[in-house]
Amino acid sequence: MRRLIFDPEHDSFRDSARRFFQREIGANAERWRRQGFVDREAFVKAGEQGYLLMWADEQYGGAGVDDFRFEQILSEENVRYGDICFYHTLHSRLVGPYIGRLGNEEQKARLLPKCASGETILGIAMTESGAGSDLTGMKTRAEDKGGYWLLNGSKTYISNGIHGDLFIVAARTVPDSRHGLGLFVVERGMAGFERGRKLEKMGLHAQDTAELFFENVKVPKANVLGDPAMGFKYLAQNLVEERLISAVGSLAHAQVGFDVTLDYIKERRAFGKPIGAFQNSRFKMAELRAQLDALQVFVDQAVLEHNAGRLPPETAAEIKLLTSELENRVLDEGVQLHGGAGYMDEYRICRMFTDARVSRIFAGSSEIMKEIIGRSLGLDDRKMS
Ligand SMILES: Cc1cc2nc3c(=O)[nH]c(=O)nc-3n(C[C@H](O)[C@H](O)[C@H](O)COP(=O)(O)OP(=O)(O)OC[C@H]3O[C@@H](n4cnc5c(N)ncnc54)[C@H](O)[C@@H]3O)c2cc1C
Repeated sequence: MRRLIFDPEHDSFRDSARRFFQREIGANAERWRRQGFVDREAFVKAGEQGYLLMWADEQYGGAGVDDFRFEQILSEENVRYGDICFYHTLHSRLVGPYIGRLGNEEQKARLLPKCASGETILGIAMTESGAGSDLTGMKTRAEDKGGYWLLNGSKTYISNGIHGDLFIVAARTVPDSRHGLGLFVVERGMAGFERGRKLEKMGLHAQDTAELFFENVKVPKANVLGDPAMGFKYLAQNLVEERLISAVGSLAHAQVGFDVTLDYIKERRAFGKPIGAFQNSRFKMAELRAQLDALQVFVDQAVLEHNAGRLPPETAAEIKLLTSELENRVLDEGVQLHGGAGYMDEYRICRMFTDARVSRIFAGSSEIMKEIIGRSLGLDDRKMS
């Protein structure tokens, strides 16, 4: 279906992005998967193209382009032609903006240029072994020691956890307040900051997900982002964009899974005809096609709303919920229509299936998305009883 939100400049940007992702990312994906991580140089190469932190002002190494459609294009092209484990969007639009929005001039001038060039790789550390969906259960704490903040605790499941040079770490700063969190910039090499092993996962084998440990890390005052008691609010504000990013990636992944399956069932034959000629296959694909087209319109509209600064949290939750559920449905049907081949690692659909499973869990699980949507309807058990 023709998409209506892009201008000619977006189309030409997509053409050059596609060439970049094919040449520099997709060509290495299989090797990265075997080695278990994306080469660091991928970030530098993306930086050289101007694809990182495009929203940042030119003085900080960006392009001053805040139009989310460009990021959407990068995400879609990376999923189709690059490597889903190359988390450039997490770097550029999920973590970088914390510095852009909350950082003072000194912090932006000091930190952003190397993020835009890809020399500094970014991550965000919220989740702990005892606190994921419910971040109010966070135990990592930071104490104000006058000249610095003393950080203690640990984080888990952190994306870009091994390569990351700079992490935004959420920590409790007000002991008796559930929402009293601060956001701290923790950099590679700080004494007491260690990372654990790369975690073995069901999918996303080239994504360097890891644990992080903080033992008496002295975080300079210059590395506090915004008000050290307002971190919970800052996280909530940025989660809208995080969910949009997740939705764009999930839908792109679903679209590719559909195409891979369509190609396969036109070729593979059983009982004297292509698998795609069976009514069951045709109906399954027809249902998925209709759902994909409908959701693409919804997501594209959400991108425009986000550009206009008016994407509500509940709408971001709706698209995150629907796209991640559809992504999993498409890839599950895709595996089924591939038959035994769908279970074989050498087939792309097999890898896509395991890569997709996390989409219903991270960036807020499907259940949490339903809570957000339900509460926006006034159905809030905390206020209703
Ligand atoms: C590959 C990967 C990468 C990740 N990257 C990062 C990262 O870079 N940074 C980071 O900070 N975190 C990251 N995470 C963590 C991720 O955000 C959390 O795993 C997620 O928020 C879920 O939290 P949890 O694992 O503690 O699950 P839990 O909160 O323990 O949830 C377990 C189950 O209970 C359900 N549940 C919880 N609360 C409710 C409720 N109120 N009502 C109904 N059901 C509920 C959940 O939906 C889920 O099904 C990553 C996770 C993975 C797997």
